[in-house]
Amino acid sequence: MKVFVLSKEGKPLMPTTPRRARVWLEAKRARVVRREPFTIRLRFATGEHVQPAKVGVDTGSKEVGIAATTNGEVVFQAEVHLRDDITEKMTQRRQYRRNRRARKTRYREARYDNRRRPFGWLPPSLHSKAEATVKAMRFIASFLPVGRVRVEVGSFDTQKLQNPDIAHLEYQQGELQGYLLREYVLEKWQRKCAYCEAREVPLEIEHIVPKSRGGSTRASNLTLACHTCNQGKGQQTAAEFGFPHVQAKAGVPLKDAAHVSSLKSRVVHDLQAVFGENQVSITYGYETKYKRIQGLDLPKSHTNDAVAIACEIGEVVKPLEMVHHLRCLARGQYQRFNGRHSEHKCWAPRKVRGFKLYELVKAKGGVGYIAGRREKGAFVIKDVTSGKKLVEVTPRQLLRVARPTQGWMITRQPVLENLRKESGASSPT
Ligand SMILES: [Zn+2]
Repeated sequence: MKVFVLSKEGKPLMPTTPRRARVWLEAKRARVVRREPFTIRLRFATGEHVQPAKVGVDTGSKEVGIAATTNGEVVFQAEVHLRDDITEKMTQRRQYRRNRRARKTRYREARYDNRRRPFGWLPPSLHSKAEATVKAMRFIASFLPVGRVRVEVGSFDTQKLQNPDIAHLEYQQGELQGYLLREYVLEKWQRKCAYCEAREVPLEIEHIVPKSRGGSTRASNLTLACHTCNQGKGQQTAAEFGFPHVQAKAGVPLKDAAHVSSLKSRVVHDLQAVFGENQVSITYGYETKYKRIQGLDLPKSHTNDAVAIACEIGEVVKPLEMVHHLRCLARGQYQRFNGRHSEHKCWAPRKVRGFKLYELVKAKGGVGYIAGRREKGAFVIKDVTSGKKLVEVTPRQLLRVARPTQGWMITRQPVLENLRKESGASSPT
């Protein structure tokens, strides 16, 4: 685990070893800026030469994986937990507004359709996710010199899809092409068994005209099948098996390009605005998967994918044993009054008994965050990862561990062993 270093002026420098950081701190040549991730700021002037880090971003709609490498070494990896309560909060705000306007009955002109949506508008739930992803990158750039940023935008290159050559790709042509071909077949057959249309089952790549009867290993002869259908079909062609339409569809290359989601294209656009257009590049899931499995030999997780995204093909790095979790926090709430006739104003004090919301505290041996506070009563402490209620205790029994930084609740946890199952299709047999 590296210690992040800021220059005397506060600019990020190269991360250093804990040993050297300790020497600096003991000699009062540096001071601590932040504990998670541990960052120090030098008290003496140094050269500002840095080797920028390569950062990989695995965007998602719930979690975002981010990993940074310098000199063939992973220096930072984080899982960003995005907010998923925006839709709910917007609905609640709308209800408060409706109630308020129904109470005060002066005539209001209809204003529901006189606003134009600006170019690139995203629904608030997606807007929040895109902004949080970029905000996380800006946070990382505040303590690490960030050079190139690579973002995964889709499972495979849709421009290659336009190319009719892909229909003639063979999975024997090379490993990376095999991954591309597999993603292509998955996309073309919509990730379900072509015969019984089963989803969420292990799928196998299947030869429509069996290899034993001269079927080729090209994309135009491949489809997806569940294990049962694959076994049942045996040595028959798809037409003989009773599915002539599968045979017919196989010959037609996939036309409509699965577009990059609006969320991902916004993230790429916004990152380009922050880090420069030439510094931000895009990559695809099949490449990530190839690098992660063939080069790095890592199980699937957001951070491992991010490590693979940051790497070049053939580059081998070792991921860290600890992952930072950045949880995106809400700023406040919309409720201004409560009571039956909205007669009480909600003051919502920032501090209750010296504690704010979302502070990390130690209570009854466990560490959690403050999810609710009562002026006269117990505080609700919730678990950081699961969000489940741990205990309700009086504030007197709480020990503060950390405060939120820049809208993030930051914790460091060992990499979880229970990693998610791989999705996709197994190789043709
Ligand atoms: Zn099936």
